[in-house]
Amino acid sequence: MTESILELQNVEKYFGDFVAVERINLEVKKGEFFTIVGPSGSGKTTMIRMLVGMDKPSRGDILMSGERVNDVPANRRPTCMVFQSLALFPHKTVGENIEFPLKLRGETKNNRKTRAIQLLEQLHLTEAYYAKKVSECSGGEKQRVALARALAFDPEILFFDEPLSALDYRLRKTLEKELKDIQRQTGKTFVYITHSLEEAMVMSDRISIMRDGRIVQIGTPDEIYNKPANSFVAQFMGEVNQFNVTRQDDARFLDTDTQDTYVGPPDADLQSGVLIVRPERIQILAEGEAADTEIAGTVQNQYVLGSRVQYEVKVTKRSLLVETMIGDAWNVGESVRLGWNSDQAFLLAR
Ligand code: ADP
Ligand code: MG
Repeated sequence: MTESILELQNVEKYFGDFVAVERINLEVKKGEFFTIVGPSGSGKTTMIRMLVGMDKPSRGDILMSGERVNDVPANRRPTCMVFQSLALFPHKTVGENIEFPLKLRGETKNNRKTRAIQLLEQLHLTEAYYAKKVSECSGGEKQRVALARALAFDPEILFFDEPLSALDYRLRKTLEKELKDIQRQTGKTFVYITHSLEEAMVMSDRISIMRDGRIVQIGTPDEIYNKPANSFVAQFMGEVNQFNVTRQDDARFLDTDTQDTYVGPPDADLQSGVLIVRPERIQILAEGEAADTEIAGTVQNQYVLGSRVQYEVKVTKRSLLVETMIGDAWNVGESVRLGWNSDQAFLLAR
């Protein structure tokens, strides 16, 4: 078994009467890319501040490599916060910034430069950046320099608090992949915070989902996607169709809002909850095609999403989202029959 590098035992944080983080238990393995995801205000920054030592837990213990670090100040922990408001020296060169931690450690000038150039290369920046001023770098380049400097500190764990949220879509996608590559190459433990589950899915070995200061689920991206713990997690992943239901018999569910009935998972032990059907699991049935649940509707809107098309289909008392590969074309205003089978829906607690 891989050793645990970070462990939280019943960690809580209060601000007066307000509970910002409640009974957190989790373990991060050495070399893992671990992401904490949650909506704004769910307690992510509060958590990371305790982990890097900028704040102390009100209760519980934080262990690093088995040692309790609650009272160890930030600068004595084997951790580094990256991109913390990009705390680079703007008027110094990229090289001087990256060499800063090496200088603190008393490395020789030659060694410093060799290492700095190595790090630049790892971050896909040419040697020409070595002499460039940080103030002359673009947003994305500054992020890379900040990461290079963090790696020069050679910490055990690197922490990231929503580093990419201010960048445009394309740059964000590129940096997500680069971050993952660098984590793999260096074998360092990354603990990453984001409000975007989509971003977390791309990079993480495991994801922990937070809501109102608590962890709702911890799992691999695959587990989070295919076995969400409740409807909050399922919704968080993006657009899903959901129905408030009670079970009628083995595989039939009554929609308590519309009185329609649908098929769903026969083996679930819940008697009521939220029935979830992902847009890509709903079929638009061709003439003569049948499914266990069939609903008639009218196409209201069509959105092209790259290689897929999303349709908003109006059915009796609501709209449903349906996704197909591009090429299947239904027109706005057209009458369609939607369908799904019992194994294409799942039932979750509210
Ligand atoms: P996130 O990073 O997930 O958006 P935060 O950890 O920043 O959330 O905040 C979680 C909750 O704790 C929020 O309701 C926030 O207002 C509250 N909070 C954070 N820091 C403080 C503080 N220093 N004093 C009082 N309340 C705080
Ligand atoms: Mg935050």
